[in-house]
Amino acid sequence: MSTRTTDLSSLRSTLESSSLGHEIYSLIRELYPICRSITGEGFRETLGRIRKEIPLDVHEVPSGTRVFDWTVPKEWNIRDAYVKNSRGERIIDFKRHNLHVVNYSVPVHRKMSLAELRTHLHTLPDQPDWIPYRTSYYKESWGFCLSHNQLQTMGENEYEVCIDSALENGSLTYGECYLPGENSAEVLISCHACHPSLCNDNLSSVAMATFLAKYLGQAQLRYSYRFLFIPGTIGSITWLSQNEDHVNAIQHGLVLTCVGDRGHITYKKSRRGDAEIDCAMAHVLKHSGHRYDIESFSPYGYDERQYCSPGIDLPVGRFSRTPHGTFPEYHTSADNLEFVRPFALAQSLAMCRKIFSLLENNKTYQNQNPKCEPQLGKRGLYRAIGGLADAGAREMAMLWVLNLSDGFHSLLDIAERSELDFDAIEFGARTLREHGLLKECAQGAA
Ligand SMILES: [Zn+2]
Repeated sequence: MSTRTTDLSSLRSTLESSSLGHEIYSLIRELYPICRSITGEGFRETLGRIRKEIPLDVHEVPSGTRVFDWTVPKEWNIRDAYVKNSRGERIIDFKRHNLHVVNYSVPVHRKMSLAELRTHLHTLPDQPDWIPYRTSYYKESWGFCLSHNQLQTMGENEYEVCIDSALENGSLTYGECYLPGENSAEVLISCHACHPSLCNDNLSSVAMATFLAKYLGQAQLRYSYRFLFIPGTIGSITWLSQNEDHVNAIQHGLVLTCVGDRGHITYKKSRRGDAEIDCAMAHVLKHSGHRYDIESFSPYGYDERQYCSPGIDLPVGRFSRTPHGTFPEYHTSADNLEFVRPFALAQSLAMCRKIFSLLENNKTYQNQNPKCEPQLGKRGLYRAIGGLADAGAREMAMLWVLNLSDGFHSLLDIAERSELDFDAIEFGARTLREHGLLKECAQGAA
């Protein structure tokens, strides 16, 4: 990692450059062929690639470990899988697409009729060209996925069915990237990295989180940041179970998923609904000029379900574009390299950067001259902002900051109350601070 020389807001131009969208996309393209699962070599290989970009601690939790009400499963690995017809042709071939095998399939190698094989085949009749993504993590079984059109070409035959997999005691692997800031209060960023060749659901957030960590690692940070690359559900349960004493340090958090499609940004609030991250996200989206949606919390979705379970109840929301399950390509072979776009990845990253910049700068101040307005003119503050096209707004921002900086309103509160953009309020506060008119309140004083 390079030395941190710059603050978060000045990284904006780098982060918003279009080339960054292409860099994220390139990482997705590299990770796309790997057959990942909730455990196994594909997950490790993925972390190994991410580790070339950011400092990543890789943890292994043995199979059989109790994690709250769950147990870390056996480790699954796969070398090959196919269905051959009587002429020896591979008509379903794992090596052509890893979605062809039901993830976590137990080994099988024998001959069978179409009727028997048919009970192990999964297709999507409504999307006849696409291969579905199916898993069987917690029930030992096996199966193949294929396009419905292909199924219809399969006649009576003696089929040789082979899944060369292993389901054995091993471990669950996850990656953790910790970026220490000025204080130990943390921002948690979590993404699942357990899906095989699927781009929007999984790889978009994995790659975006990697680049977010890479760029935050170059900034001087107030908060510490913890990035988790985990298998969905069992990964967050495992991490929470093994770090329960630590969760109080988490002040804000985001689950990232589906951040690369063409749709607009959707934010799902934390269980608390009015956490600072919820307010920050609502503010940034409102002022973004883009279309967006904000959803209330519900106990369904991705790892926010675990972070927001009642005994944990962290202020963790979920950031995505089109939410999982609401686009037809979801969990199919059509969630591919064409489905995610560099511009969308760059925009999602820029939005997250803006959120973190807001959280970093959302401080509470005390006006040092609260009895009537201070005379701004004699301090050169009118001149300091004169001639700028938006001088009026900046002047208003300073007046709002002075008026509401009574130790009880954060800058985000002031931005919301004044209906001004946070950046304008923050700029006003910085100017006033430089002139000795504001003093930061100790953290937690507000
Ligand atoms: Zn998924």
